[in-house]
Amino acid sequence: MHATEATDIYFEHAADRLELPAWMRKLLKTPKREVTVQVVCEMDDGRVETFLGFRVQHDNARGPMKGGLRYHPDVDLDEVRSLASLMTWKTAVVDIPYGGAKGGIGVDPRKLSRKELERLTRGFVDEIHDMIGPDTDIPAPDMGTTCDVMAWIRNQWEKYHGFNPAVITGKPVEEYGAKGREEATGRGVGILAIKFLKRLGIKPEACRTAIQGFGNVGSHAAKYLHEAAFPIVAISDMSGCYYKPQGLNVPEMLRHALQNQGSLAGYRDAELLPADQLLSLDVDLLIPAALGGVITKDNVSSIKAKTIIEGANGPVFPEADALLAERGVTVLPDILANSGGVTVSYFEWVQNRQHYSWSLDRVRQELDRTLSEAFENVWQEAQRHRVSLRTAAFMIAISRVKRATELAGITGR
Ligand code: NAD
Repeated sequence: MHATEATDIYFEHAADRLELPAWMRKLLKTPKREVTVQVVCEMDDGRVETFLGFRVQHDNARGPMKGGLRYHPDVDLDEVRSLASLMTWKTAVVDIPYGGAKGGIGVDPRKLSRKELERLTRGFVDEIHDMIGPDTDIPAPDMGTTCDVMAWIRNQWEKYHGFNPAVITGKPVEEYGAKGREEATGRGVGILAIKFLKRLGIKPEACRTAIQGFGNVGSHAAKYLHEAAFPIVAISDMSGCYYKPQGLNVPEMLRHALQNQGSLAGYRDAELLPADQLLSLDVDLLIPAALGGVITKDNVSSIKAKTIIEGANGPVFPEADALLAERGVTVLPDILANSGGVTVSYFEWVQNRQHYSWSLDRVRQELDRTLSEAFENVWQEAQRHRVSLRTAAFMIAISRVKRATELAGITGR
């Protein structure tokens, strides 16, 4: 199944409940603009390589479009299109004044030197600088991109358009970034996990948890949940699955990864299993926080967890989602679960525009408040309409984007 198809199926479930007319469905599903560019990059040894870069601007009814940039070999137009649409629903469900966009380059950043990565990034900005801007489309980090990449993008964009750090978020803190942005997505997963499990009557200390991915999202989620007394029994990254039924020493794993270019390879204080075995472990809570499309109709029968929180974008495909629902597994959907990152990106943009810097405490308080309100709204909507949390989140988001579209004068019949 293509990623866009999966997102559209979730959209349609909610649109059915909202009795949305066909013309409005088409309008809301179709991206405003899709761009593919050739990015030519001179490598350190003098070779010239060509990469494909993408930016999809999905919807701007509620404000400037917002969405990350992904550097990964699997990046293609379909994936970016699906992620751009998820951003529209994500910004709407947490009610921040943005639309949705996404972008990326089909490249394995680990195979490039730092200088090559910088040249590639600047070359990409040369191709798309007219499309992005603080009032039109504001990129941010995603898989494979860091705050340094954001700093290069800002610097290159400003060469064309002049000083305006609000053109991009996720910047280094000393370069107009927000305190707390780096931790925000994982921290948000943690904040929401506590609210979600409380509603389900599960105590943190009784909630054996497995986390797929130990990058930006997975590592900060692990840290937050470990500090909140969740027994984290398994964590995987590309090097394998680290399993310890008595509970992993998360601070030690964070230190290990920090000294090992982000990787858990060589970590000894746990049993080492094949990476994909994490999904089928006997745990209470499963947090996929790495790739999309990891739980499908082919492996869903092996999932034992009773609750899933989607730290990654699109980790559960619709057929699997339906089978999980039949088995009583509750899923907290990506558009809410990983919205902490875009929420603090919004705070960064606000601070840049005000030329004023917030304290870390203020960022954390505002994040907690925004996510708590969004969670309560989604939970109540799900109860009211007897639908899944995913359908409830999409219903809230679609209603808000529809209202903004109508207020812009598109009312139809
Ligand atoms: P990242 O590049 O920092 O980390 C990815 C992690 O996944 C790494 O630890 C990597 O080793 C691991 N991984 C890759 N393949 C794996 C596999 N087959 N099995 C187990 N682990 C594997 O990426 P990230 O920023 O943490 O993003 C992860 C997911 O969260 C993506 O889906 C992204 O779109 C989503 N997301 C990220 C943010 C953000 O602010 N970074 C915000 C919202 C959503």
